[in-house]
Amino acid sequence: MPTILDCYTDEPSGLGVPPYLGVYPRYVYGRLVYDKPKYLTIDDLRNTQPRKQLKHKTDIAVKNLTRSQEETLKILDETRTLYIIAGVHTPGKYLSAIPGSLGELNRLLSTLKCEKVLVGPAAKGTQLHGGKRPETGLELFDRVESVEENYTKINNYAVDGARVAKQIPYPVIAEIETGRGCPRREHCSFCMEGMKRLEHRDSREILNELGALKEHGIQNIRFGRQSCFYSYKGCRPNETEKLLKGASRLGFKVIHIDNANPAIVDTSKGERITELIVEYCTPGNVAAFGVESFDENVQIDNCLNTDSNTVFEAVKQINRLGGERGDNGMPKFLPGINILHGLRGETKKTHDENMKWLKKMLDEDLMLRRINIRQVVRFPGTPLGDNPPKLKTRRYYYSWRRQIRTEIDHEMLKRVAPVGTIIRDVRMEVKDGKNTFGRQFGSYPLIAGVKQELELGKPYSLEVTGHMLRSLVCQPCNP
Ligand code: SF4
Repeated sequence: MPTILDCYTDEPSGLGVPPYLGVYPRYVYGRLVYDKPKYLTIDDLRNTQPRKQLKHKTDIAVKNLTRSQEETLKILDETRTLYIIAGVHTPGKYLSAIPGSLGELNRLLSTLKCEKVLVGPAAKGTQLHGGKRPETGLELFDRVESVEENYTKINNYAVDGARVAKQIPYPVIAEIETGRGCPRREHCSFCMEGMKRLEHRDSREILNELGALKEHGIQNIRFGRQSCFYSYKGCRPNETEKLLKGASRLGFKVIHIDNANPAIVDTSKGERITELIVEYCTPGNVAAFGVESFDENVQIDNCLNTDSNTVFEAVKQINRLGGERGDNGMPKFLPGINILHGLRGETKKTHDENMKWLKKMLDEDLMLRRINIRQVVRFPGTPLGDNPPKLKTRRYYYSWRRQIRTEIDHEMLKRVAPVGTIIRDVRMEVKDGKNTFGRQFGSYPLIAGVKQELELGKPYSLEVTGHMLRSLVCQPCNP
């Protein structure tokens, strides 16, 4: 019997850390569908080991269980081939899950007697912490397989793979693939997406997959598996409309997007696509701009995709068209900005430039839904990984990040969700002492903390009463 072990994935284009359900487990399930594979999570596997019970805090290492310890042990015993899905290339902080590392897998799986097949980004290395070298070493595995086959095959796997949702007892948001590769001729120094052949899935095929997901109980989706949502089929608004209109007719509770290239957003076709996103997607939506740096020298040295003026114009456009508040309490559609440290050419001036442009956005009353700041992981095969720069700025990373968090992010948070805002459908995920934390389903949802013990897994309407540095302080209210 084949078993899929989901250790969760996080890549620049594609998230599979709960509550996200990534594409890998679904595609692998679809490929093996006639053998009726079982689905386990790394949490199920950890749960077979003795562990210390946390009294006052949710243990997020074993939160995402799909079945009992006895059932997991029985499945592992009967497994002939174990498909292990793993790999974190863009490490983040996860509220209610911990992805599996190669070290942990070696500890937990080395005595298991079955064929072990690795699938997913860990084949090229994985790292849960930014700024560190990727973990490599694939001795544990009998083989490494890719699911990056042609889209004719993927389209079939995607429809059959939707059935895996039946084995997941908690609600998830499914990551949806629209294409792979990068439309640019030259690629950013740190990025592996540019190594793939540029290809897009047909909207009819994607909609077939969405229909199957809906049929198997999935209520939330995000078009997150692509380098730029706006570049779908060569930035053609009529193609994007077919896709979004079709998705919205299926009646999902949440339809969001993820990555967007500001240089494509800031065009007339890009503007039309923004209008379509506002019309057909659900509120709280975010376009994550991979800006990486506002320093022109860093932009040139790393072949980044856009200049600072273009980013500013794209931020303005999405604010103008998407800034209105939607029925779940959040602005309908806002931009987010990714900043990356450790790139070539980084100096003290880099942070000054980043602050200058972010302050300009603040001063012009614009909203940024989130600013993601992280240190680059230098993967072999990329120009940065093969020829790493010697930087003197590494020691400034935390102080630079703190300044952006306190002077920009915090102010933006107050603007995006001011005191008195009612946010709806916040599903409580973890407890810490007498506090409970939850999020809406969607792209980069805000974390809402309540100073009460609320029921985990239950959706609440919450009133914003204050702001922490990057999260909301809330109290329950009537829906
Ligand atoms: S624009 Fe840069 S970061 Fe984005 S996919 Fe292309 S190469 Fe990668």
